[in-house]
Amino acid sequence: MAALGALALTVSACAQGSSGGGPVMGARAEAVTGSIPQSASAPRVATPQRRVAQAGSAKEWSGEDGGSGHPLMSAEAIRDAAANFDRCVAGMWPDAARRGVTQANFQRFTQGLTPDLRIMDLMDSQPEFTKAVWDYLDVLVNDTRIAKGREILARYKAQFDAVERAYGVDRTIVASIWGIESNYSTLGGDRSVLRSTATLACVGRRQAYFRNEFLAALDILNRGDLTPDEMVGSWAGAFGPTQFMPTAFNRYAVDFDGDGRRDAVGSVADLIASTANKLKQDGWQAGQTWGYEVAVPAGFNYMLADRAKSYTLAQWEHLGVRRPDGRPFPRPGDKAFLLAPAGAEGPAFLMLGNFRAILRYNPAESYALAIGHFADRLRGGAPFMQAWPRQERVLTRAERLELQQLLARRGFYRGEPDGQLGGRTREALRSFQASIGTPADGFASSDVLDRLRRR
Ligand code: CA
Repeated sequence: MAALGALALTVSACAQGSSGGGPVMGARAEAVTGSIPQSASAPRVATPQRRVAQAGSAKEWSGEDGGSGHPLMSAEAIRDAAANFDRCVAGMWPDAARRGVTQANFQRFTQGLTPDLRIMDLMDSQPEFTKAVWDYLDVLVNDTRIAKGREILARYKAQFDAVERAYGVDRTIVASIWGIESNYSTLGGDRSVLRSTATLACVGRRQAYFRNEFLAALDILNRGDLTPDEMVGSWAGAFGPTQFMPTAFNRYAVDFDGDGRRDAVGSVADLIASTANKLKQDGWQAGQTWGYEVAVPAGFNYMLADRAKSYTLAQWEHLGVRRPDGRPFPRPGDKAFLLAPAGAEGPAFLMLGNFRAILRYNPAESYALAIGHFADRLRGGAPFMQAWPRQERVLTRAERLELQQLLARRGFYRGEPDGQLGGRTREALRSFQASIGTPADGFASSDVLDRLRRR
């Protein structure tokens, strides 16, 4: 989800990915400078000059109602919950005990915790603009990051060799996630994960979800995998070079270097193995790619561009879908769905099962596309061949709301207009486009907004 920070969250609007479930990657906040050590004998990531933000040193809470309008996000509800914070944290002891956290550790790690209410502003901030998919790709996949990624692959070749053998997950995908999530451990938040998740577990509109994250964070500390100082990250609780949430860390982190700690923050072997392990558990197929850039024929039925519509590459070929360089698909029997992230005016992609494994890291399609493409570029692959419709203007928040309201008024959209262009808005747009005989690509352009206004 997230500089990068807000990007991952806001991209869902242009990615129009599903928002179901919590992201592994949370919203990253402030950039932190740091460097990867030169020593190859001790493959540890340098911990940047990262200090956990102290109460008072960071920006304060605005004291205002949240933009979501959720009753638990009103200023009054936030103040009440904050006043009850100590009792709320103490009330989580029985659940922590059930997970095996000792009373001594519970005391030690929760002592002196205070709520970080600034998070409430961040949680409900609604971006005026969202990034177009091409801008998102430009930011994440660029020559500097590619050069750095290749340097990382060379420097930690021994670790990548061993992890690739053990998990069957292509090293470039793992290196891509590390690079995009934290620019190789040089970007990340500086908030205490324990404090952020405790705050979110006791204040605001997603308490049940974050209660689980807070308990998972305690569990990690109780096991001795990490120290509180190592668990710093985004306001939403994602931490470390590959931005695991605490629950994801508990599910997927492995001790690959055998020192007894699952240290997916500082140990290169542990962090790349943990990421590969997650992809493997999420269905990564060894030796296969994630997808292909394709061109679709004129008059193509864009209703087929749907995550739920999976056909073999040979069937897609039969429908006139081709790789832009004319090369055949190496495995025509593989099933894929068609994604047209910028609509009929931009490149399309046939996405294989491995793309779905990346989506489980973060459900935004633009994110998964960036990960896959960056991996290809690390391997020496070329930029996409087809141009993006860069002349397209990204809709403002007011326009996104208007678009949803107009779709609702015309009977195409049943959700509550919220300015977030997700899957439901895309489906509504496609139905509208089909009804007026334009390509039903579901792309929220200023043109389609004009057409809606005129009807
Ligand atoms: Ca270890």
